[in-house]
Amino acid sequence: MLAIINALKDWRHFLEGLPKPFEIWSDHENLKYWREPQDLSRRQARWAQYLSRFNFVLTHIAGVKNIKADVLSRRPDYQVWDFEDNKDQIVLRPEHFVKIATSYVLNDELERRTREAVVQEAEVLQGLEKLRKSRLHRLTDGTLEWEESDGLIYYKEKLYIPNAPGLRHDIVKQCHDAITVGHPGRWGTIEAVTQFYWWPRMKEFITKYTDGCDLCQRMKAATHPKATLQPNEVPEGPWQTIGIDFIVKLPKSNGYDSIAVYVDHFTKQTHVLPINKSINAEGVADLHVKEIFRLHGIPRKIFSTGALYLRHG
Ligand SMILES: [Zn+2]
Repeated sequence: MLAIINALKDWRHFLEGLPKPFEIWSDHENLKYWREPQDLSRRQARWAQYLSRFNFVLTHIAGVKNIKADVLSRRPDYQVWDFEDNKDQIVLRPEHFVKIATSYVLNDELERRTREAVVQEAEVLQGLEKLRKSRLHRLTDGTLEWEESDGLIYYKEKLYIPNAPGLRHDIVKQCHDAITVGHPGRWGTIEAVTQFYWWPRMKEFITKYTDGCDLCQRMKAATHPKATLQPNEVPEGPWQTIGIDFIVKLPKSNGYDSIAVYVDHFTKQTHVLPINKSINAEGVADLHVKEIFRLHGIPRKIFSTGALYLRHG
């Protein structure tokens, strides 16, 4: 909970007053406490008040998966000890929670194949039989934790992918090759697949897949830059240190196809200016003088990764 509050404070300038709800990805288990009416401490009451300023929904990511965050959230000095007034308060209301629909991660064809394959796996069927006999929706048997829902099997809240010809391969492919994902490499792919799916020895399987991906092998060098990273100095005042980003090839609007985004690292104030992809160095300098210098003077430092677009001529 403290993590969410702190994240909201960090990003408040972007998040507060948004017309549509934004998503917070977190582990529901840790947040269950907040869904029940509680007697709040003063600090917690302040949190509840702060949360009410934001329009958000929480999306589930299993705690087992969210290891890095989990370790941090268990630091003893983050424990809240004071017990005072504010009785019977619910901090996180049900509308703050959404369940990821299966269709969100699985396309129709893969879902159909998964359903068909589940029926053909004897072991899984036996497990299900056990579930039905015990009239439990959920079976917890030592380290095993299976759940059946609407013809699909879940293992520890991940969708179980049966060993049918090509099915696991196509699941990995969907998480690795899709144009929106763009070949995230071995660890990125493992992370993407294990977020939603499970099958035995899946990491081995995924590693084999990424090692065999022609495009990934050719791009490998580019994904490991040799230069060491240095933290930026903390800016001392507004518009002394600014960042410029160019977002190009957008749908045309009023004759422009790109935008230049200026962000002041101190105040987070942002200017978004329409430009064309064909803009050159001179054009950017003009834009800067007209739109930024006029308001904020000369910055001490400019950060930009958009140098590609600053052609001469
Ligand atoms: Zn690849």
